Amino acid sequence: MPKLYRWGSSSTCAYQWQQKCSITLSRVDWAQISQNKLAADWFLTIVQRMNNALAILHKIFGYSSFRPPQAEIIDTLIEGGDAFVLMPTGGGKSLCYQIPALVRPGCGVVISPLIALMQDQVSALHEAGVKAAFLNSTLDYSQVRVIEEAMQRGELDLLYLAPERLKQERTLALLQSVKLALFAIDEAHCVSQWGHDFRADYLELGVLHERFPSVPRIALTATADVRTRKEIIERLQLQDARQFIAGFDRPNLCYRITLKDNPRQQLLRFMREEHASDAGIVYCLSRQKTEETAEWLQSEGFNALAYHAGLSARQRAENQARFLREDAIVMVATIAFGMGIDKPDVRFVAHLDMPKTIEAYYQETGRAGRDGKPANTLLLYGLQDVIKLRQMMAESQGSEEHKRIEQHRLNAMLGLCEITTCRREAVLRYFGEALPMPCGNCDACLHPVQTWDATETARLALSAVYRTGQRFGVNHLVEVLRGSNSDKVFQFEHQHLNVYGKGAELSVNEWRSVFRQLVARNYLSVDLDGYGALMLEEVCRPLLRGEATLALRRDETTKHSKPGKRSKPAALTVAGDLDPELWEALRALRMQLAEEHKVPPYVIFHNSTLEALCRQRPTTLAQLAQISGIGERKQERYGPPFLAVLQQHQ
Ligand code: ADP
Ligand code: ZN
Repeated sequence: MPKLYRWGSSSTCAYQWQQKCSITLSRVDWAQISQNKLAADWFLTIVQRMNNALAILHKIFGYSSFRPPQAEIIDTLIEGGDAFVLMPTGGGKSLCYQIPALVRPGCGVVISPLIALMQDQVSALHEAGVKAAFLNSTLDYSQVRVIEEAMQRGELDLLYLAPERLKQERTLALLQSVKLALFAIDEAHCVSQWGHDFRADYLELGVLHERFPSVPRIALTATADVRTRKEIIERLQLQDARQFIAGFDRPNLCYRITLKDNPRQQLLRFMREEHASDAGIVYCLSRQKTEETAEWLQSEGFNALAYHAGLSARQRAENQARFLREDAIVMVATIAFGMGIDKPDVRFVAHLDMPKTIEAYYQETGRAGRDGKPANTLLLYGLQDVIKLRQMMAESQGSEEHKRIEQHRLNAMLGLCEITTCRREAVLRYFGEALPMPCGNCDACLHPVQTWDATETARLALSAVYRTGQRFGVNHLVEVLRGSNSDKVFQFEHQHLNVYGKGAELSVNEWRSVFRQLVARNYLSVDLDGYGALMLEEVCRPLLRGEATLALRRDETTKHSKPGKRSKPAALTVAGDLDPELWEALRALRMQLAEEHKVPPYVIFHNSTLEALCRQRPTTLAQLAQISGIGERKQERYGPPFLAVLQQHQ
């Protein structure tokens, strides 16, 4: 039996080891290990391999155990196999290739589309004592030469590459001249034509398999949709790769979806009451709106920045860097922002406009709470969003089939907004996963929505659409139903219709809510070419004929949900139960070190590590080394100054 990492050498270690690695050794019958030579040998090699991996996890990254399914992925690669990994944001994908790259001989090559973030990723590895570098268009010729030479001398453990480099014969020749540990294709959904992240350069990645058939490959993504998954596997020729699909649930995220009713005030209340000094992202549909919203948030005292594809590359890079480096920046952005942003302590993601698909919603909200601590999401939506999105879709270039699929996905998103049951259940169901019971951490669970029997009201609404000739939008229909004396009503002589004034007991907002829900449920469609006229759909028939009933949600736009029993966001909890002076002193030291090393503060230590320091108050380096997130190198570099600060606050 080889010496097992951190345990004794008795054979019961095998089981402990299995737990530590959370790896399933299903291929082995435990009782036979000691008798069957082949099984025993196999077992010993895998133990050896994983011991190396565990040692690195501990020494370099400062963590004590793998999360599922990290260990199995790492083992697959160390053994030389290919892997396809689908793991939610914050699941821990990076270690899945970083550790095998360190265990296997040669250099691991990571293809990443995010040039702006390569620098940070590489700096973070340097901080941990890993020999890493990147090659992208930000380097000049002499810098490129230095890295190529280091690579040729076998001095690099990890090389990050922009995808367009792989088109260059020079790069391929370089890769062919050295020993390679593996290829990692990060953000692999960029090969898919379906997502909005598509990068033509990613299509070239097929060459890896052809030019380097013996180098193991791992493709990673957090994009859940089945079509994209298939496309990645096909385009990257990963048909034989082992697939690791981790669960999609992000239990620390609280989902909230609310109707728009003075969205700025809704956002302001949300941010003031729950996230006054937190980092967050506010998504908007248009460039102009991001700028206006950022400006307005600044005037309200928030440290807000705008981000969209229309800004200069320099401005974007600068805003992104500030978001990563400074505390409590609020980024107001279009969907152009966020891919690969691995800032762990984003405490909230708010949407001022509805995302086009549940995938986008899941991915965008997923940027909150990567550190596993409670984080909030808020989506504000209204009928106008649906009309705008349908319009954008109708005008888009894609094929008819593409448009139909997009329409379908938009309807699913709208369905998620309108449901009265657990949001998380619905999101997970969309990804083919079941939740055993309602989550208790979404608005529908925390503040159950009431429904009402809207059968008669809906019939009245549908008749109004029919009687007015299916040529009018919501505003006019509501006027007719409420018996308004407006010019337009008289102009079209709608005061003579039998539906005129029949709905006076409902307020304008209540009627709007009815129409919105009828559109969401496809009883009505919106004429996108004209002025948003509503038209009847087939689904209406049973309702109109009196063969079906309809329950609608009661919107309570004026009553705002209080934070209630929801857990407070982390930044506030931190201030609550930790010594605030010590906490601030540790943060100040972290900020100072981050500036000296030119890295974001979380690269020095995560908040969770600072918190542990605050709670456990280690007094020696050995005690400090026990804290999660402090590997050997960080212990040497930062241990002494942090111990000094702790000492001052004894
Ligand atoms: P992803 O790329 O999947 O979004 P990351 O690789 O950035 O996620 O990891 C998310 C966070 O979890 C990082 O801060 C990382 O250091 C941490 N992490 C990853 N694996 C482990 C582990 N086994 N134990 C503790 N923390 C981990
Ligand atoms: Zn729920």
